[in-house]
Amino acid sequence: MTDSSTDDEREQVSVPSEIEFPRLLDFYDLQTADQTQIHEFYDNLRAGQLTTTRCTECDAIHFPPRIVCPECTGDALEYVDLPHDGELFAFSAVRGGLPLGLREHEVPYVVGVVDLGPVQLSGRIDDAAYSDLEIGDPVSLKIVDIDGPTDDDRVFYRFEPQ
Ligand SMILES: [Zn+2]
Repeated sequence: MTDSSTDDEREQVSVPSEIEFPRLLDFYDLQTADQTQIHEFYDNLRAGQLTTTRCTECDAIHFPPRIVCPECTGDALEYVDLPHDGELFAFSAVRGGLPLGLREHEVPYVVGVVDLGPVQLSGRIDDAAYSDLEIGDPVSLKIVDIDGPTDDDRVFYRFEPQ
């Protein structure tokens, strides 16, 4: 038997000296035009307006915004403003099970489904404890800036009690 693994002959491999923040732990979408076809949604949100897509062929309003209409498969879509006030349709508290890196989500926090009229959407409900809330409570849009791990300016939507 030949000895092919003496210290002198072994191939050397290396590992990175730094480990970058894993992209998989960044739960926010990349938001620029070269990264997503729904960048207009984020552009509008960054400017302070919640919007979504409406199909100009069948009038369906979608959330999240689409690039093809799921009702008629047409691609003639336009962005329309959504109301910033709505009602809490359902809610729950997150008490654990958070992935590493989500320090901003200190438990417990509240997530809910908000009825804005044209659409219902889920999101975090800030500035409220689970025990403070009831179904039907009025809530308002709250836009937050996302800090890192990309260099792009990013935003996201949440809601808070009125
Ligand atoms: Zn359509």
